[in-house]
Amino acid sequence: MRVSRLLLVTLRDDPAEAEIPSHRLLLRAGYIRRVSSGIYAYLPLLWRVLQKIAAIVREEMNAIGALETLLPQLQPAELWRRSGRWAGYTAGEGIMFHLEDRQGREMGLGPTHEEVITDLAADLIRSYRQLPVCLYQIQTKFRDEIRPRFGLMRGREFIMKDAYSFHADEACLRSTYEAMDSAYRRIFERCGLRAVAVEADSGAIGGSASQEFMVTAEAGEDLVLSSPDGRYGANQERAVSLPADPVPLEISECRELSTPGTASIEALCSGHGFDPTQTVKVLLLLARFADGGLQPLLVSLRGDQQLNEVKLANAVATRQPPCGGLLDITPLTAEQVEAEGLKPLPFGFVGPHLEDAVLKGARRWQPRFLRLADPTAVDLQRFVCGANATDSHLAGAAWGELTPAPEAVDLRAAQPGDRCLHDPFQRLEAARGIEVGHIFQLGRKYSEALDARFTTEGGVEEALWMGCYGIGVSRLAQAAVEQHHDGAGIRWPVAIAPFELLIVIASAQDPLQVSLAEQLYERLTAAGVEVLLDDRDERAGVKFKDADLIGIPWRLVVGRGAAEGRVEVVERAVGERRDLEVDAAVADLTAAISRQRSRRPGV
Ligand code: ATP
Ligand code: MG
Repeated sequence: MRVSRLLLVTLRDDPAEAEIPSHRLLLRAGYIRRVSSGIYAYLPLLWRVLQKIAAIVREEMNAIGALETLLPQLQPAELWRRSGRWAGYTAGEGIMFHLEDRQGREMGLGPTHEEVITDLAADLIRSYRQLPVCLYQIQTKFRDEIRPRFGLMRGREFIMKDAYSFHADEACLRSTYEAMDSAYRRIFERCGLRAVAVEADSGAIGGSASQEFMVTAEAGEDLVLSSPDGRYGANQERAVSLPADPVPLEISECRELSTPGTASIEALCSGHGFDPTQTVKVLLLLARFADGGLQPLLVSLRGDQQLNEVKLANAVATRQPPCGGLLDITPLTAEQVEAEGLKPLPFGFVGPHLEDAVLKGARRWQPRFLRLADPTAVDLQRFVCGANATDSHLAGAAWGELTPAPEAVDLRAAQPGDRCLHDPFQRLEAARGIEVGHIFQLGRKYSEALDARFTTEGGVEEALWMGCYGIGVSRLAQAAVEQHHDGAGIRWPVAIAPFELLIVIASAQDPLQVSLAEQLYERLTAAGVEVLLDDRDERAGVKFKDADLIGIPWRLVVGRGAAEGRVEVVERAVGERRDLEVDAAVADLTAAISRQRSRRPGV
């Protein structure tokens, strides 16, 4: 391919819309153009990168026996209603683009394909003899993200590889999950990415294992907490740790304390000499469900702890009868309380003994609290808490005396510096990560909802066991740039570079240079190298700048040395220049490139 025919448009300046290096570089180097918020055109150079990533993904999926397929992107609402996800995905903060067809039937644009595939499985799978089976596709997904940003990192239209497996039992699911885990590690390694596997949130399904693959990078949107010994790593959404030991409270019976104007834990502690670990803070929140249900929550945490909202959402969703799914949880406000026709609540001075009676007469809310407490709060013998009256606290309160201890459930956010569960001498360290893949043991949630059953060897009808496995193909391409760039531009790993070699003609006016470059172009292309030829009639400096920006891993410069049959070879990632005789350059390049090309191990 010739640069003159490539429609290559590079930008000298950083586009204002881009905040992180990889986004800036992909725009500047002519790989992508923004069409609308979170919607990008993949230009020819990037399309080659995406095809290469897809080819590696295909090889590794095929190698573990997964079958490629292609499922519809337009999906009937009815399937999503049956799985119970329609309302959650379309109302409130739901991310599914949805529409009505000319007959007035509701449809959604696929953000993911569990419903479609499970319905197909219900139709196609009859017997244990057909199991296990795993299908995958590489396809555009649509998600109306609340905050699309960072280019391809969080798009509203993006390319995903998604796979779904079906099994007769859990052991078989686990073995495919492990095969996927290994395949994912090979995929990221072959793409030239340093990715780590960490424990991930499994959502409200509970119990099932789930693992994310994170590319560590400053620009990552996720926070990963891991132990220095490498034995523990988890997304903060899911991470667990040992909380600090509380400072004992030397008060043996409960008394009231006048605390005017001290509505925060900090003010309470600094004003009255308490340690935050001696206090219980109460959060009042409201959970909204897809069927319109509104559930007030009373959550108790030890004063020094932070709430993990993902853990709370999971706990609420699993404790609530089916109500079409949890939409969101937000802090209760004084205005909401008033609008509900209730008496004002003593915000800032609420204790865990706040009675359900305060909800009596609520217009739309459930008239009792769902009460949850983190073990750090439940484990306190005596503590300080709000007295349920403005400007007043209780010191020396105890569960049982004050109110029964609520159900204890892990709700606290693990923090960097916390001691690890597996070894208290290890302390959690934080790093930012980009989630490039996610594998998941789904169990039977979807097969039960969509009635996907099979007959066991013993002749019994049972719901299928299921797993799902995603890779963000377009996000991965950008994550590679985030990990491989310098001040001058991109440094693609050979395995996913749009071209392997760029031949630059220093002066397109010099017929000798042009003819040598053309010969080398032919020769190296014939040798199987993917060559891009910069044949533009531009100043050498402009071409070198573009070369660094575009980031083709190898560069061969045909310049003044052409007359003596000499050329310059540069490896983009290393930057070292070597002046070589033409034949030596060809031999060197073909050998180095073929070494660096991605191959399945053992092939
Ligand atoms: P996130 O937490 O980043 O929103 P997710 O957990 O919702 O992602 P999954 O449903 O697990 O995403 O999708 C599988 C993979 O698809 C993710 O691991 C990620 O690499 C990619 N992906 C998800 N959302 C986007 C997006 N908006 N733009 C680009 N890639 C995405
Ligand atoms: Mg995920």
